[in-house]
Amino acid sequence: MTLLELRGHPFLFSGVFDLDWWQLALVALALTHVTIAAVTIFLHRHQAHRALELHALPSYFFRIWLWMTTGMVTKEWAAIHRKHHAKCEAVEDPHSPQIHGISRILWGGVELYVKESYNKETLERYGHGTPCDWLERNLLGRFTVLGPVLMGVIDVCLFGLFSGLLVLVAQLVWIPFWAAGVINGIGHFWGYRTFDSLDASTNIVPWGILIGGEELHNNHHAFATSAKLSNKWYEFDIGWGYIRALEVLRLAEVKRVAPTPRFTAAKAVCDHETLQAVLTHRYDILATYAKSLKATYAQELGRLRRFSPSDALMLQGLRRWLHRDDRKLAEAEREKLEAVLAVSKPLQTVYNMRKELMVVWERSSATREQLVKQLQDWCHRAEASGITPLIEFSQRLRSYA
Ligand SMILES: [Zn+2]
Ligand SMILES: [Zn+2]
Repeated sequence: MTLLELRGHPFLFSGVFDLDWWQLALVALALTHVTIAAVTIFLHRHQAHRALELHALPSYFFRIWLWMTTGMVTKEWAAIHRKHHAKCEAVEDPHSPQIHGISRILWGGVELYVKESYNKETLERYGHGTPCDWLERNLLGRFTVLGPVLMGVIDVCLFGLFSGLLVLVAQLVWIPFWAAGVINGIGHFWGYRTFDSLDASTNIVPWGILIGGEELHNNHHAFATSAKLSNKWYEFDIGWGYIRALEVLRLAEVKRVAPTPRFTAAKAVCDHETLQAVLTHRYDILATYAKSLKATYAQELGRLRRFSPSDALMLQGLRRWLHRDDRKLAEAEREKLEAVLAVSKPLQTVYNMRKELMVVWERSSATREQLVKQLQDWCHRAEASGITPLIEFSQRLRSYA
């Protein structure tokens, strides 16, 4: 008797629904999508980052569904993920492809996750605020294999033994592959970057559907506490769509989204408000600064072409490097860039002053008074430089509200 014949057996192998293979594939896709939604809305945006609050109804549903389809424990997931943000791309990062290599994360990410889940220190330090009620202590966090077994029984009852087990396998491998493998791996390795964050995070594709919006991983690392992961007009985050629908039904409340810059008349002297605005809008500031750098580059290239064509040629070859954080350049690349910048004083100034500006949001040991003073000093030097794009940038900086 073949497997196909077994599938049609009236007593042992049939379920409530007798589906064709394509119907079964659609059902499996729909069920795995529910799990994806549970991971992105409940585990990631709600539990790990507190970007939204959830009503008890979806909260319990997601918790029980995740238990049945992944066997993952909320505290472990949130702790490991928060540690990933805190130690991003460093050796302590539980799953960085920059440290472990892309294929290790893509195909073995789940193994690294399981290994980290045994790290008591990680759970204690990063697992705060996660469910610790009776249900968690006595069932969800205790009998992690029971959930998937129960799911398997339901699948078999609904679709028959053969088809039911196929659906269960799809459900069980979906998250380890797409979340632990693709997002944690490719989301730090390949794709486009809108925000110049210090980590290597990328947006894999602009349409976040298959993995619930998590595809927009660079946007997420730039604004980790935002409930919405899309940022540009052409980007789509289906998870945000579900959150808005839950909000309309009064089952969710969005706490934070990425900030939109606002401007007032430029302040004569930078104050605490300017500093706060600079800290909040640092990615917008970096993007605007890149335009000033580009404008200075174009001016200087034009000048060198007239007076020193060989230097112009050299500068042209290193155009892309100008926009990269020099910490990401190899030693030899950095030296080469410095040698090229030596032929253009204005470009060198604009290039170096970007690093000095970044210190404002990267130096955590300085007091706010020191940072305000540093910012004011930076604007003063920028506006005394005589470099038009830099002067215009500094005036805009002083007008962030
Ligand atoms: Zn990440
Ligand atoms: Zn995150």
